[in-house]
Amino acid sequence: MSQFDRRQFLKLAGALSAMAALPKGVSAATVAPRVVVVGAGFGGATVAKYIRMWGGNVKVTLVDANPNHVSCILSNLVVTGDLPLSSITLNFNSLKTNHGITFMQGTALSIDAAGNKLTVSTKTGNKVLPYDHLVLSPGIDFVPAAGTWNPTLTPHAWVAGSQTTLLKNQLAAMRSGDTFVMTVPAAPYRCPPGPYERACVVADYLKRKGRTGAKVIVLDANSGITAEPEAFTEAFEVTHAGWIEYYPSATVESVDSNTKTIVTSAKTVSNAKVLNYIPKQRAGIIAQSLPLNSSGFVAVNPLTYVADGFTNIHVIGDSCAVPASDGKGVPKSGHMANSEAKVCADAIVRALSGQAPDEDIATSSACFSPITNTTASWLSANFIYGDIFDVNGVVKGKGMHRVDIGEAPSNNINQDSFEDMYKWSESLFADTFI
Ligand SMILES: Cc1cc2nc3c(=O)[nH]c(=O)nc-3n(C[C@H](O)[C@H](O)[C@H](O)COP(=O)(O)OP(=O)(O)OC[C@H]3O[C@@H](n4cnc5c(N)ncnc54)[C@H](O)[C@@H]3O)c2cc1C
Repeated sequence: MSQFDRRQFLKLAGALSAMAALPKGVSAATVAPRVVVVGAGFGGATVAKYIRMWGGNVKVTLVDANPNHVSCILSNLVVTGDLPLSSITLNFNSLKTNHGITFMQGTALSIDAAGNKLTVSTKTGNKVLPYDHLVLSPGIDFVPAAGTWNPTLTPHAWVAGSQTTLLKNQLAAMRSGDTFVMTVPAAPYRCPPGPYERACVVADYLKRKGRTGAKVIVLDANSGITAEPEAFTEAFEVTHAGWIEYYPSATVESVDSNTKTIVTSAKTVSNAKVLNYIPKQRAGIIAQSLPLNSSGFVAVNPLTYVADGFTNIHVIGDSCAVPASDGKGVPKSGHMANSEAKVCADAIVRALSGQAPDEDIATSSACFSPITNTTASWLSANFIYGDIFDVNGVVKGKGMHRVDIGEAPSNNINQDSFEDMYKWSESLFADTFI
């Protein structure tokens, strides 16, 4: 993407403000600075690609535990058998060959912040990677409730891959009268509409397969539906009436994977056929070595994504915490991780060429939620950097300001949105990985 295209994207993503002057790339005359990125998902792959495109003379090493990335986006349709896992398995070939990124398969173990080094465990032993800037985009880690949770018996399927296949097989084994129990973790968690979307497509699957008397029990730790409440209330009470039972304020107290029993403050279920326990979430393990906020995520400067207390360690995607003017955090989504990655890439290129970060920035998010195997709803959230206000309307500082540019939550559950979901995901996958 050219610099002109970048200007277009950032303007369109936030849609409201013009960009300040574009940064200079890093001069070929200097020794190439080193950027190391941990996590080749939606945040990490994007930041690696855009630093290489915009930065000029910068060496980028992208580290991931896996040889390819399995997308959580669209993964609920793999659970129902409507899509094969291969359709959401994204390789790193283009990042390597078209963008000159060095890929290292391995698990980042520890950060030496004073020495600017990252240690990575690989099949051939530990490697130490020196860096000028380190970007972490390791996704999420889980905080399970008390009890004996074993995800190989009762999958979360909130990180896609083998967990998705396991849940798919368990759903396929359900028969008439069986119960599928799932949880919605307390916010903030990855993909706010995702659990409600899963309840819908599982109910739709059971209905289509003629599993009479089967039901989906949704145990929500939150006091109500956290995203698109009107659309999901319609989906639960009308579209899938009789197939979904919804319980709000259901804090999980214990889980027993052997007996498929879950105890919550609102309801206890024993001997479920499928127990899809999605635990509470926090920053990915490697990011937990940085200071965490009270929710377990890393507070960052939204202009640079530098973690509080550091100068050259950046955290993007689900692991970071970005407060927003409406009191809620910026949502955790793949689209948002991709958007944050571009702001972060821009800030790193500016820092490497002696420029201050751009303050004229915007980020955005979109989630499409299949409700049946032919219809979907969608949600968009958009933010610009600027003054944020207290309850009395007095400026209390700078931050990400939520703006409504006409893509507020839509209650139009329809086939057009289902078709748009594939166009949107194809474009996001390409912008991240190609
Ligand atoms: C069912 C479901 C539906 C969703 N639908 C949508 C949607 O419609 N729209 C949307 O925008 N988002 C959606 N999401 C959310 C989206 O998938 C995540 O928000 C997004 O993947 C976050 O990007 P990330 O870069 O933070 O993490 P990820 O994309 O998860 O990438 C993290 C990567 O880091 C690697 N990693 C972690 N730790 C290490 C380590 N120590 N060393 C090496 N590698 C490591 C992992 O292997 C992984 O590849 C959905 C999620 C789910 C579960």
